[in-house]
Amino acid sequence: MAETTDEGARDDNGSVTLVGAGPGDPELLTLRAVRALQAADIILVDDLVAPGILDFARREAKKMLVGKTGHGPSCRQDEINALMVTLAKAGKRVVRLKGGDPMIFGRATEEIAACRAAGIPVEVVPGISAAQGAASRLGVSLTHRERARRLQYVTGHGSDGRLPADIDWKSIADPSATTIVYMPVKTHAAFAAAAIAAGLDAATPAVAVINATRPDETVIAATIAELPQHLAAAAVAGPAVVMIGSVFARAMTADETSAPSASQAAGR
Ligand code: SAH
Repeated sequence: MAETTDEGARDDNGSVTLVGAGPGDPELLTLRAVRALQAADIILVDDLVAPGILDFARREAKKMLVGKTGHGPSCRQDEINALMVTLAKAGKRVVRLKGGDPMIFGRATEEIAACRAAGIPVEVVPGISAAQGAASRLGVSLTHRERARRLQYVTGHGSDGRLPADIDWKSIADPSATTIVYMPVKTHAAFAAAAIAAGLDAATPAVAVINATRPDETVIAATIAELPQHLAAAAVAGPAVVMIGSVFARAMTADETSAPSASQAAGR
């Protein structure tokens, strides 16, 4: 990895920058993210990063895909941490490019800790998280002031790949909350059943946004009780968030979004 450079003192200048790539549309990159991509020697790229994002990287920067699709996360995460540290120790400006915002369901804690433990300067550049991308595409405020007192992000995917056992279902059932479920696809039916069992009204609007802000964005709007069957029928491909709460009532009326499947699904 240690190619020669024309700067002799370079080995002391290694650093790691965790950069949020946003949900997909490259125009949602921050200026600081673009600047970091332009300054990088090496970019370690997550699965979730949309292809157009790398067009903004320095052409000479080496790009390495370090995705973890579907495999044992903790072992692979260790490898990513080790790689990041090794490269930075060799004097490289390493960008760790992550989908959405690095600080939201992004394993940033481990990566920052690994850098700090190795004495490597680490910086974080925030990104637009999937929830923000999806809400803006729907044109729905997540915190309508009469309907939503609370906004909560929850993962549908525990470290064993199942619905996390310790979700606070009372909070999920709160009618004045807006809930965004990240990584919902495999466990959404169980999530919906548990939420309804905890007292969430079965008629609460629930919207799945798949590939938010990307050219193939798809919106499926239903009630929390019915969304699982719509999602199963749609055979989701790509990252999705499920957004639950009365603020999404408007998204359930057909033709409010540009995605064709929204009206199909809501009309059933
Ligand atoms: N750090 C990311 C989240 C990483 S966890 C962020 O802030 O957005 C991975 C999950 O993010 C996916 O399973 C999905 O739930 C969500 N996600 C990421 N990009 C998405 C997109 N373009 N559309 C819908 N969901 C997305």
